[in-house]
Parts: sequence; structure tokens; C-alpha cells
Amino acid sequence: MHHHMSLLRDLQALDHYIDRLRQEVAELDNGERLREKIERSRRRLEEVKARYQEIHATATNQELRLQDLGERIRRAEADLYSGRITNPRELQLLQHEIEQAKQSREDMEVEMLRIWERMETMKNDIDEAERDLQYAERLYQAHVEDYNQRKAALESEIAFHLSERADLAAQIDSDALARYEQLRQRLGGTAVAVVEQKACSVCHTLLTPYILKRLQNEDALIACESCGRLLYDPLLAH
Ligand SMILES: [Zn+2]
Repeated sequence: MHHHMSLLRDLQALDHYIDRLRQEVAELDNGERLREKIERSRRRLEEVKARYQEIHATATNQELRLQDLGERIRRAEADLYSGRITNPRELQLLQHEIEQAKQSREDMEVEMLRIWERMETMKNDIDEAERDLQYAERLYQAHVEDYNQRKAALESEIAFHLSERADLAAQIDSDALARYEQLRQRLGGTAVAVVEQKACSVCHTLLTPYILKRLQNEDALIACESCGRLLYDPLLAH
């Protein structure tokens, strides 16, 4: 067995640990769903506001029409009592027009009340949508702060172990290290297997007497014949 195998095994343990930390970083929830919720709340608020603007315009219009109508009634009544019109038929006609105008003013006032009621309801809807949005924003902010803290903590831990790894790698024979890196990349992160009861700890294939003998006698990198991983035998380590 190569005299640096125990260092390679240590390196692998460290690499596995760093991989797990990186995985944890990747799995951290960056708050994307909360951000989408903010967008939905914002769109809803905009919709409610737009509808309020519409009804507000309708109300303003209606008020102008009411003022206009009131003015017309006032003038017609002034005309009626001015004594200018003497023809009874004409007077009757004017009186009738005034009555009709008053009736439609009444209808419009009832309609106006309904519009105001709807505006009140919509103001409440706007308030509610605003509160919703503020709440979603606060939630998102708190989440992002938490996310950033966790991420920074994990990243500094990774940096610490990477420097530890560099120190360890510097002690290992460069050919052995290169072989380790190659295998690690090709075999999904695990390049070193341990001999456990004469079998490979990763693929569980029983090792041949020939391989076991080589492990014992040669200062070389010996690989599992089945999965190709470098074999480390703790019983042979010193
Ligand atoms: Zn194997």
C-alpha cells in the first residue's frame, strides 16, 4: 500500500465534509417563494388601487352631473316664478320638466350613495392589501437576513477547511494526489475505499488474495479490481 494512503483517506474525509457544507449552501432557501409572494401582493394592491381610481372618476363625474342638474332646476324654478311665462300650457310644461329633473336628481343621489359605499369598501381593501404587502416585505427581509447569515457562516467554514485541505494536500506525493483527484471526479466524490474483512468498503466486492498480497508488500497505489477505487487498509497503516 502506498505510504501516503492514510493521508489520502484523511483528505477524502475532509473533501466529503467540504462537499456536505457546499451541499448545505446549495440547499439554503434564498427566499425566492417569499419574493414571489411580495410580487403577488404588490400586483393585488395595484389592481385594487386601479379599481378605486376608476370608481373615484365615476363619482367625480356623477357629482358634476348632479351640480349641473341642480343648477338647471334652480334656473327653471326661477323662470317658473318670474312671471315671465303666462301661457298656462307653457307653465304646465315647465313644471313637469322641473318635476322630472327632480326625480332624476333623486335617482342620481341614491346612485351616488351606493358609489360612496363601494368606495369605502375599496378603501378598506386597499388598506388590507397594503398591510399584506408590508407584512410580506418584512417576512422576506427577515428571511434574507437569516439566509445571508447562514450562508456566510457556511462559506467561512468552507474556506477554513479548504485551507486545511491545502495543507494536507501539500504533504501528499503529487502523482498519488493527481490519481486521487481524477478518481474522485470520475467516481462521484469517493476515490478511496477501505479494506473491511477482505472486501472493498464501497462496492463490497471480496478482494483477491493477489490484491491483498500487493497491498501488504508494495509501496504503490492499489485499486479495487471491481470499482477502481484506491484501497486503504487500516490494519497495514502505521
Ligand atoms: Zn470496490
